[in-house]
Amino acid sequence: MTWTASVLTLYPEMFPGPLGVSLAGRALQDGLWSLETVQIRDFATDRHRSVDDTPAGGGAGMVMRADVLAAAVDDMLERRPGVPMLAMTPRGRPLTQAMVRELAAGPGLSVLCGRFEGIDERLFEARPVVPVSIGDYVLSGGETAAMVLLDACVRLLPGVMGAPTSGEEESFEAGLLEYPHYTRPQEWEGRTIPEVLRSGDHAKIAAWRKARAVEDTRSRRPDLMERHWGAPRQPPSGERQDDEGELT
Ligand code: SAM
Repeated sequence: MTWTASVLTLYPEMFPGPLGVSLAGRALQDGLWSLETVQIRDFATDRHRSVDDTPAGGGAGMVMRADVLAAAVDDMLERRPGVPMLAMTPRGRPLTQAMVRELAAGPGLSVLCGRFEGIDERLFEARPVVPVSIGDYVLSGGETAAMVLLDACVRLLPGVMGAPTSGEEESFEAGLLEYPHYTRPQEWEGRTIPEVLRSGDHAKIAAWRKARAVEDTRSRRPDLMERHWGAPRQPPSGERQDDEGELT
């Protein structure tokens, strides 16, 4: 069965947007995945098709109503039983490549896009909706966050990426950032491509890449080093990294 994304949104016209071009767009055209949008307003019950109301306790903005969202979510859960139901929110579980892999391996996903000040918290208490965040910053709406999530999943679907191994060495797959890339010209503004990459010695190249992945992760993302490799090690003076990326 085709991996299918259902997007619950107030702005269905935003889709497929960037997901309609390049890799994801071609895959969509080729039927490697499918996309449906659901207008949340269709589940409103008043004549104004209201989906939001003022925040309890006061404050700026509006909050998306639990009753309207629950009707949309219930409809989706009934139509697509067993498909994970997510909601984009900065208060959610941080999106990781491991989560992306798990979602890409399943039947697809349903995703609720927030707007305004966000979603009435009771929705998360009353329905199996997993809150997901794409990072520690605030967007104006969940649609762009959902596009990030979908793009990350779709590229992992069978047949979407050219070489079947393209995803395996990438950043976060082994808990590290990927090694840096270079291409021709060999010299640019006085900078040359590291000699080892032109050596043709595959073992040496692999060792260099692993060492750079470790080095760059340590300096740019000490949090990743800590999460995947235990406490971040500051090499004491005299300690050096060998070609395998191991500290000796
Ligand atoms: N008042 C909310 C807060 O401070 O947590 C922010 C609401 S934001 C203006 C509106 C919507 O954008 C959210 O309901 C959510 O759907 C989406 N959104 C914003 N930032 C996001 C993020 N980092 N990850 C996922 N969704 C996000």
